[in-house]
Amino acid sequence: MSDYAPGSGGHGGDAVVDLRSDTVTRPTPAMREAIKAAPVGDDVFGDDPTVNALQERVAALLGKEAALFMSSGTQSNLCGLLAHCGRGDEYIVGQLAHTYRYEGGGAAVLGSIQPQPLPNQPDGTIRLDDIAAAIKPDDPHFARTRLLALENTWSGHVLPASYVADACELAHSRGLFTHLDGARLFNAAVASGRTVTELARHFDSVSICFSKGLGAPMGSMLAGPRELIHRAHRIRKMVGGGLRQVGLMAAAADHALTHHVERLADDHALAKRLAEGLAALPGVTVTPPQTNIVFAQVSDGRTPALLEHLKSRGVLATGLIGLRFVTHLDVDAAGIDHAIAATREFLEA
Ligand SMILES: *Cc1c(COP(=O)(O)O)cnc(C)c1O
Repeated sequence: MSDYAPGSGGHGGDAVVDLRSDTVTRPTPAMREAIKAAPVGDDVFGDDPTVNALQERVAALLGKEAALFMSSGTQSNLCGLLAHCGRGDEYIVGQLAHTYRYEGGGAAVLGSIQPQPLPNQPDGTIRLDDIAAAIKPDDPHFARTRLLALENTWSGHVLPASYVADACELAHSRGLFTHLDGARLFNAAVASGRTVTELARHFDSVSICFSKGLGAPMGSMLAGPRELIHRAHRIRKMVGGGLRQVGLMAAAADHALTHHVERLADDHALAKRLAEGLAALPGVTVTPPQTNIVFAQVSDGRTPALLEHLKSRGVLATGLIGLRFVTHLDVDAAGIDHAIAATREFLEA
């Protein structure tokens, strides 16, 4: 076994190497200081200076007119979809996209918006031909196709830039709006060497998360045209997202934007280290990661037993779609090497 020492995994001070998600991070001491120092007010009255400043910062960063702080990525996508589409409208979305598959069907349940899911290719794209064929003509038989929603990163993949431009151009040329679920947009930016402004450019609206790789305790932001954000503001209130002195959390998000973006490269390097370490083991197939998510397969349906073994060694991962490991602020190289060693121990037993 490796000589992994308790306390060496990030700043959390415990021995567990938690690779289940990049949402498990705890605020750093510096982030806690930023939270403590934040001026706050009642954001439902529009009085929270920290929230207001963050909304302006993010709108500028994403190249949009306005932005609105949200409790979660799910709430942000939901408010975006409901602001774009009305009852009986339809949005085109990937079969495996978060908004369609992992958000409780909220757009349909709460907005009466019909999803038109289409196959995701292995790189996360949806074929342009599939999109074109799914856009319904103006005919009483059909729901009104209003919106195309894409996701970047998608399962850790960065969408090809030319694809994004082409897909959005197709959508716009057919009178659709475009929404980007950019929960991990900063990972895409760091991995591709492009700015989030460039990555957001072709979309009417964009949602980003502060609670994933950026390491804040909560919060997302929906950005877009002023009028759309105005509608989203009412919807956010309707779904219980009008928060009060939430500048405390906006301060954490602001701190993350300043201090935790460039370091995402470290997470990507650790994911690569893990992928290479796992790929060298017998019977493991690894998808080379582009960002901070590593997918791996072991033979003969051994995933549950491997996950149990890893857990007994203080390594947590998920196994819904093969093995999934996510790197983040609270794991370091020693933790990754420990995870590799624990996997080797299982496979060689
Ligand atoms: C996590 C995630 C969301 C939703 O974020 P929550 O804050 O967990 O609601 C949306 N889209 C993608 C791609 C995500 O990974």
